[in-house]
Amino acid sequence: MEQLVETADAADLVDRIDAGHALTGTEALAVLATPDAETLALVLQAGRLRRRHFADTVKVNYLVNLKSGLCPEDCTYCSQRLGSDAQILKYKWLSTEDAAEQAGLGVRGGASRVCLVASGRGPTDRDVGRVTDMIERVKDENPGVEVCACLGLIKERHASKLAAAGADAYNHNLNTAESKYDDICTTHTYADRVATVEASKTAGMSPCSGLIVGMGESDEQLVEAAFALRDLDADSVPVNFLMPFEGTPLEGTWELTPLKCLRILAMVRLACPDREVRIAGGREMHLRSLQSVALEVANSLFLGDYLTSEGQAAEADLEMIADAGFRVLGRPERPAAASSCAEREAEPAAHACGTGCCGSRDDDAEAPAAETSAAETPGSPVLRRRGAGTAAAPNA
Ligand code: SF4
Repeated sequence: MEQLVETADAADLVDRIDAGHALTGTEALAVLATPDAETLALVLQAGRLRRRHFADTVKVNYLVNLKSGLCPEDCTYCSQRLGSDAQILKYKWLSTEDAAEQAGLGVRGGASRVCLVASGRGPTDRDVGRVTDMIERVKDENPGVEVCACLGLIKERHASKLAAAGADAYNHNLNTAESKYDDICTTHTYADRVATVEASKTAGMSPCSGLIVGMGESDEQLVEAAFALRDLDADSVPVNFLMPFEGTPLEGTWELTPLKCLRILAMVRLACPDREVRIAGGREMHLRSLQSVALEVANSLFLGDYLTSEGQAAEADLEMIADAGFRVLGRPERPAAASSCAEREAEPAAHACGTGCCGSRDDDAEAPAAETSAAETPGSPVLRRRGAGTAAAPNA
């Protein structure tokens, strides 16, 4: 396969994209085939597009899991799927008060967008009513914050109600290529997912749709999926790196390296040069020490924890942004590096992860074995469920 082995090649490609050229399939495959030794040079070139459109800002997003587990769908990558044995927190709907309280923590931690997420195939009329109440409450309590709803497959009338309540965006990921989709889900189709993204657009919400990479897809399928997102005109593109939960069919699937993750992000940036590209779930375990390098390509991340697993502590996310020379979107100054553990603990509102930080995450507490979900593969990263090390039971 043709390779972008010369830095000049990547520079020329970025120049042409900057002038309006649309990345071709051949070029996208060449980006993914960049040798490890040339990958950081590729990142620097792709970063020119990121800086041109987003300067030194990082958009901070915060997840609120409104309803966890108990899903009737069978997405193979998902810890909340039908039949999943993953030891995750499982609960039915949060109250409006609890959802608003969690959202406020994220906003005070720096988030300019709150993502209200619920497991399930899609919402009922009653579910939409609950979430519209939450949207109104969150927006009322946090002026200027964006709210993104993520409730599964959605009908146009439900999308219209969410938009009328103030939802700025709707997330529904394509996740992977159409040619790969039957391998990862049998209870709904790729076309169902596309229809939901289109319904959110019709209702006037900003379409957020992205990927999960590392599920056994080929480079051709990565390109197919990225180009589908470009064709759908997604405004924001979260790139998730598979977290292979124990108790799911993809348990033990570890096929990404930090440099491969960077090449995938660079390809997505070149395909969608002016779109929000987000380093999403799994960044900690797959990008590892290159997380901040990824911000040269991506311009967005989730703060703190994910839906069912622990992320890096929110404080560490903010430090990473500042240390790499970026600033949080919507905040004029770069976040100051946290000065001391005592000061952090005096400001619990900054602990948006909700589980403490700087070693105070109850890591010292001896969690029951069933509460951790380290992958079984020897030497693989530890995947901890959200709530592990706390008093919360998996079915709290
Ligand atoms: S990804 Fe969504 S629809 Fe699929 S199993 Fe998980 S919660 Fe259910």
